[in-house]
Amino acid sequence: MPENTVYVYLNGKFTPDEDAKISVRTHALLYGTSVFEGIRGYWNEEENRIYIFRMKEHYERMGRSCRIMFMEMPHSVKEYCDITVELIKKNKPRTDTYIRPSIYKAGTSIGPKLSDNPDGTIIFTTPLGQYVDIHKGLHVTVSNWRRLIDCTIPPRAKIAGSYCNAALIITEAKKSGFDEAITLTERSKVGEGSAMNLFIVRNGKLVTSNITDDILEGITRDTIIAMAEDLDIPYEIRTMDRTELYICEEAFFCGTGAQVSPITRVDHRPVGEGKPGPIAKKLQDLYFDIVRGKVDKYKHWCTPVDIG
Ligand code: PMP
Repeated sequence: MPENTVYVYLNGKFTPDEDAKISVRTHALLYGTSVFEGIRGYWNEEENRIYIFRMKEHYERMGRSCRIMFMEMPHSVKEYCDITVELIKKNKPRTDTYIRPSIYKAGTSIGPKLSDNPDGTIIFTTPLGQYVDIHKGLHVTVSNWRRLIDCTIPPRAKIAGSYCNAALIITEAKKSGFDEAITLTERSKVGEGSAMNLFIVRNGKLVTSNITDDILEGITRDTIIAMAEDLDIPYEIRTMDRTELYICEEAFFCGTGAQVSPITRVDHRPVGEGKPGPIAKKLQDLYFDIVRGKVDKYKHWCTPVDIG
């Protein structure tokens, strides 16, 4: 194979990207029945290696998404981690990289049912820099699309089909001139961004929604909470009202893609002083040190992959 071949992992084999094919009848394509993860690998130039951030936790969440969706993970979490490391070694990215594993309903019969329907695995990697701007401060709107709820397509599971909801939310926000959008739950409480979790700061205290507020149980959200404990920043996990977005001192998104992205305007109102706030900046700095494997305490979250 040529030196620059990009491989994907497809159902047991590392295959050159252009040869990785699945049927046009695939259930996941027809009905949105796949679950997935988005994982980041951070390039560390001095060490000539990629650090994959919280890979185990991502595959564990994928296992929980599978349980909800009557899917059998074709491999164990450990095997998925090993396969991912091997894929990175084959692709040798020398840049920040996004890793996208999916477990998908691979049957080709018509009808949405999940049983008697085999499960396949796809993993690909692609270079990824910033998914949203992390420096300038985002202008966001409260979406008039509601987030899906637990008894429709559960947001707790990372199900491909549910991202049609995210697609409507982000597309309309962008067409209206905003950078991102915040969703409300069925009860009109604050949920999250289109594909990221949300924190605000009120009276010096970080606040984020409950995991029972129809959000994805974000791994970055969990990382922020751990960092807040380390930095002695008080935090509270509770239901948030929409109007708290208009009077908070700071707000920021967090997620594998979003990383830590300060929000400086919500629905044409400045957040705090209208510039990225000190707590968001402090958390952002520590976050980037952690993900690049520079903080000993959190090195166990970073899987090193040496790029030969
Ligand atoms: N909410 C949604 C809907 C998402 O798609 C994501 C991105 N995975 C997040 C939150 C953030 O989750 P994580 O920090 O685990 O990437």
